[in-house]
Amino acid sequence: MTAECILAVDIGTTGAKATAVLRSGAVIGSAYRGYPTSASGSLVEQDPRDWELAATAALRELAEDLAARPAAIAVTGQMQDLVVHGRDATRGALRPAILYSDTRAGREADLVAEVRGEDRLVRESRNVQDPTGLAPKLLWLREHEADAYREAALLLFGAHDHVVRALCGRSGTDLTTASTTGLLDLDRNAWNLPLLEALGLRTDFLPDLVPADSVLGGLSSAAAGATGLPEGLPVVHCAGDAATTTLGAGAGVDGVASINLGTSGWLAVTKHGSPVDPRKGVYNLRHPDGSGLILIGAPSTAAGNLDWLRAALLPDMEPGEAFALLNAEAAAAAPASLLYLPWLSGERSPFKDPDARAAFLGLGRETTRGDLARAVLEGVAFSLRSVHDAIYETGATAPAAATLVGGGARSALWGRIMASVLGCPMLVPESPADAGARGAAILAGRALGWYGDYALPGGLVAAARHEPDPGWARTYGKLYPAYAAMHDPLKAAFSAMASTRSRA
Ligand code: ADP
Repeated sequence: MTAECILAVDIGTTGAKATAVLRSGAVIGSAYRGYPTSASGSLVEQDPRDWELAATAALRELAEDLAARPAAIAVTGQMQDLVVHGRDATRGALRPAILYSDTRAGREADLVAEVRGEDRLVRESRNVQDPTGLAPKLLWLREHEADAYREAALLLFGAHDHVVRALCGRSGTDLTTASTTGLLDLDRNAWNLPLLEALGLRTDFLPDLVPADSVLGGLSSAAAGATGLPEGLPVVHCAGDAATTTLGAGAGVDGVASINLGTSGWLAVTKHGSPVDPRKGVYNLRHPDGSGLILIGAPSTAAGNLDWLRAALLPDMEPGEAFALLNAEAAAAAPASLLYLPWLSGERSPFKDPDARAAFLGLGRETTRGDLARAVLEGVAFSLRSVHDAIYETGATAPAAATLVGGGARSALWGRIMASVLGCPMLVPESPADAGARGAAILAGRALGWYGDYALPGGLVAAARHEPDPGWARTYGKLYPAYAAMHDPLKAAFSAMASTRSRA
């Protein structure tokens, strides 16, 4: 057995996945263990001990039947969590992790904005702050759990930060994860200590900022016993999942965009240069290379629009069959006969309007189900183009190609429409669900000296490639400005409708 592999562990929202990735980038096996989430109202928590147990169990299963020699463990996972450790490293976390999606700290977020000023918060963090940020979460902890706040000796902000500590005894936070906390001065790549001081918060428990592509330690004897892997096996901290997914989808280098057509969507690119105005709904995350940015724009609802149409028009048909029928009818319909605004549950990117709702424009007596389906595919493509434009206006290298992942990537028609609206080919990678693991393996491979850059080893291997259709591209080019101008004049109507809805 001479081939070497990286064991990539992804601590996700619902479970831990361990994946073996060869030096060539090929995936040769994976194992998964789920864990529970405790959610009640605005509170969303997980037990960090569950992350450790799921990670070690998944690694043990993967290691049992491995056709290559493990060269390192690479860990990635969910970001913007609050994990509180005491002085005794063997005791584990002092309380459950407060997850990224937890919004309990609403009042505290208002206080942070009042003390520091919203403009200054944006200038320092390069992101818009809200109750999911770490400053509000820490203020909440101090107010409601004074003992845990006092006993805290080390905070961690990524689920992978915690699992790395369990595996090798050392940890910290990577710059990508740190840039989601609101506590990082993004331009300086340093903790914003004056912010914490202005809020009267401690600064002595912040984690070290650790490089994403270096070995942090060796597998401890306890973790070696739990996983069946050799003691001392290098453990690489890696970066939060937004970074590893972007790298693994081929967009860790300038000039490639990665687009997710999931229930909600995103477009992520790497840019070397100045940050984007986050008030346009674009997040500025630090690239694992420490100097570039990963820019992410995330429309609230993407493929979820098609799912809504399917449920509304074909409620009794099996979903797979219904999607096939809608795709076929949409393919037979003319392009751009309607305009669909895909704001089914409000919009957050590139504009923020929780009251916005979806609409079809241009319905006539001749409108068919195929026209409706095609308009939905086109409207979602326009929404991703608007995020794309907010990002590229600022000087990022416009993509020569984009990778397409998520459930919507199953539709070849949608791929072609996306290519025509965005003006570049769409590549659907093989096993897109492994993007996070592949990205973590790139970082670990760099730590081992295997790779010199952040590109996919062996390049982008596409299972499918969709080229723009020149005729459609011309038609969409004429309709897109109408889409882009649509929200402003409708704002007052959306707001009036929201108030009648809430009174009803
Ligand atoms: P999530 O983001 O919830 O993990 P997925 O990435 O699995 O979701 O994507 C789910 C979406 O994929 C559904 O909302 C649906 O609209 C879309 N989808 C599934 N199959 C098809 C298909 N054959 N054609 C177009 N869209 C599809």
